[in-house]
Amino acid sequence: MTLDFDEGDELRALRAAVAELGGRYGQTYFLEQARSGGRTDALWAEVGKAGFLGVNLPEEYGGGGGGMVELSIVLEELGAAGCPLLMMVVSPAICGTVIGRFGTAEQKQRWLPSLADGSKTMGFAITEPDAGSNSHEITTVARRDGDEWVLRGQKVWISGVDQADALLVVGKMADSGKGTLRPALFVVPTDAPGLTAHRIPMEIISPEGQFQLFFDDVRLPGDALVGHPDQGIAQLFAGLNPERVMAAAYSLGVARLAMRKATEYARTRQVWGTPIGAHQGLAHPLAACQIEIELARLMTQKAAWLIDSGADAGTAANSAKYAAAEAAAHAVDQAIQTHGGNGLSQEYGVAALLAMSRVSRIAPVSREMILSFVAQHDLQLPRSY
Ligand SMILES: Cc1cc2nc3c(=O)[nH]c(=O)nc-3n(C[C@H](O)[C@H](O)[C@H](O)COP(=O)(O)OP(=O)(O)OC[C@H]3O[C@@H](n4cnc5c(N)ncnc54)[C@H](O)[C@@H]3O)c2cc1C
Repeated sequence: MTLDFDEGDELRALRAAVAELGGRYGQTYFLEQARSGGRTDALWAEVGKAGFLGVNLPEEYGGGGGGMVELSIVLEELGAAGCPLLMMVVSPAICGTVIGRFGTAEQKQRWLPSLADGSKTMGFAITEPDAGSNSHEITTVARRDGDEWVLRGQKVWISGVDQADALLVVGKMADSGKGTLRPALFVVPTDAPGLTAHRIPMEIISPEGQFQLFFDDVRLPGDALVGHPDQGIAQLFAGLNPERVMAAAYSLGVARLAMRKATEYARTRQVWGTPIGAHQGLAHPLAACQIEIELARLMTQKAAWLIDSGADAGTAANSAKYAAAEAAAHAVDQAIQTHGGNGLSQEYGVAALLAMSRVSRIAPVSREMILSFVAQHDLQLPRSY
């Protein structure tokens, strides 16, 4: 008998500590930074200093020695406190995991301690304008020139480039054929000559911007390559399941925040001499949202546990991301409805969650691509593309 759904005292203490820290900043701080073009550096630094950013990274490199179970708890609790730090999805989860597993000793030493304590941040760049969801068609090419690599191409929708010290860029080797993804991962400093970044105007109220990037023969030292180019696919996927779990945690945090606001409001607002939450027209959809959140959370925990156990987490991580994104979209929509006109005001901070709650239906992998994955891998249905 080993099946146990109790998180245990240590994880509960982690949740409580992160919730306390996030609560000291809260949604007001987060939205103020976002709306004024400010940054959440102070929060990021404090989360890092407390050891929460690096909970998943190896202890010998300054991390907490835990895994995705711990890291996803940190992001979920920060989100529930009103501060969903999007860069946690990429910096410690994708970049930290990939460098921790496949980096050289020197790369680990250079990056992991600073990713863990938050003194450095790393973004992740795979998406390209023409390839979109079809990463096999990426055209950013790495060419060897003596001891150096030369990177040429472009990326789009890359988050937090202005906050990041470096990016983990997915390119392909110059000798790869068209349509075959032979990915190679490079650490590229954000101030590298030849790299230009343009901020994309977005409707998401969040301090992290999205950027279009141009790599115009960016020259990189030989040791910018992470891992071995012949094992690029495995190395890339080692980072993508953690990314899905963190996207799920991001959504769960947003969903919980929306539900907290909705239920507080529904308990107190009266227009017929009774709290509006007594009307089943509001109570039932809120209860349904709560069930969806709990189900998504269970799948997120399972996916995180599978990753940490070294087991195949593909279906679980995709399912968690799908379920959490749906739960967040439904919860935010219902929270707005519950607030009536106030739902669209700035004061209540509910409509502010709208675009944010839709991000996970699109990124890092869209709802449709996940459904295709499950149809193909779990239902053995033919590929559609
Ligand atoms: C806020 C935000 C932050 C992001 N941050 C990053 C980042 O840091 N790094 C990074 O590399 N990328 C990032 N992305 C990019 C994100 O991963 C992509 O937007 C996503 O993978 C979808 O690609 P696309 O936008 O090109 O859409 P497209 O691929 O053009 O898809 C458009 C629509 O078509 C559907 N579609 C496509 N193919 C199929 C199919 N075969 N079957 C059914 N439907 C299909 C999609 O599901 C979608 O609904 C971010 C995106 C956003 C919005």
